[in-house]
Amino acid sequence: MNFINKNKGISLYIHIPFCKKKCLYCDFPSYTNSENLMNSYAEALCCEIYEAVKNKKIKTIFIGGGTPTYLSLDAWEKIKNTILKINKDENIEFTVECNPDSLTMEKLLLFKSMGVNRLSIGLQSFQNKLLKELGRIHDVKQFEEAYNNARKLNFNNINIDIMFGLPKQSIKDFKETLQAVIKLKPDHISSYGLIIEEGTAFYKNSKELELPQEDDEREMYHIAIELLKKYGYNQYEISNFSLPGFRCRHNLTYWNLDDYIGCGAAAHSFVDGIRYNNSKDINEYIKLININGNAEIEEYKNTDKDFIEEFMFLGLRKIEGISKIEFFQRFDMNINDVYEKTIKKHIQNSLLIDDGNNIKLTSKGIELSNTVMSDFIL
Ligand code: SF4
Repeated sequence: MNFINKNKGISLYIHIPFCKKKCLYCDFPSYTNSENLMNSYAEALCCEIYEAVKNKKIKTIFIGGGTPTYLSLDAWEKIKNTILKINKDENIEFTVECNPDSLTMEKLLLFKSMGVNRLSIGLQSFQNKLLKELGRIHDVKQFEEAYNNARKLNFNNINIDIMFGLPKQSIKDFKETLQAVIKLKPDHISSYGLIIEEGTAFYKNSKELELPQEDDEREMYHIAIELLKKYGYNQYEISNFSLPGFRCRHNLTYWNLDDYIGCGAAAHSFVDGIRYNNSKDINEYIKLININGNAEIEEYKNTDKDFIEEFMFLGLRKIEGISKIEFFQRFDMNINDVYEKTIKKHIQNSLLIDDGNNIKLTSKGIELSNTVMSDFIL
């Protein structure tokens, strides 16, 4: 069986684990009050990147966090020198995740000089009162300034992240956010429903949070789909919408179950069927890199069953669904040999469609995607 898709080069994720302040809903691996580690972190990161991408051609880079734009210019210069030296595909997609308050002109110019050609800006909401509720440290004006500066410098592939289902958010608020964002004509919009994750400040105070009713939240999701469609944004994944030609190729790597290398504290890699996890702790990460040249603390080899399940869970997130031919090419068997009963059941429930080539979620299936996906566990 050919579980690994060998034809598509490799993607590189780079994690920057620093934030100025922790947002109240955040469970990402990011730390505050660790600015003194930025330089030594960048040095360790550069060593890891060099080693990890040796003899490989990189097709996409995504620098995420944390808050990459919060990293000092000195530390960024180090990363730039490394990135300029590694072997990259000429059509590379190179994204940096940005926060509006730290996306300065200096940083934008530096990104240009190192070949960044896609920005992903975390706006979340167009209402300052809601940004405060989330514990975000920027306001709408800072966002607009950063966005306009990026456009002035000819960044012509920009994503804006927004959220719905927020405490004290009305349907009207969310509609206004969508309309204001659409007016700016970004090339890509990610619209995520808030999830109260364990360990976050929101989780600890969850009883006091004035969250929208479930029906209202569902309505917000529908409004996003309809409004974005009206303005030419094609929904290609449960939470992601793009103008034609602007799908995020890096994230498609994950949904297609292709190989990727992750560098930095808490980063994961998936290479030749093996999953590797780096240490989350910044100090330990730096120490491990300095001693071993890598910071892996866990390794897991996917079983045949893992491959098939992950191919289904991740693939069904894409609106185009799972190609039956690709399933056959990867696993040397027909999708119905494994999932005939499950697929039939969900077609009968109107949660899945088989269009002849692909198996995909219906609109109702997208709403109940977690239930559908859990049925694909073997
Ligand atoms: S900026 Fe992003 S990573 Fe940092 S605390 Fe907020 S949500 Fe988390």
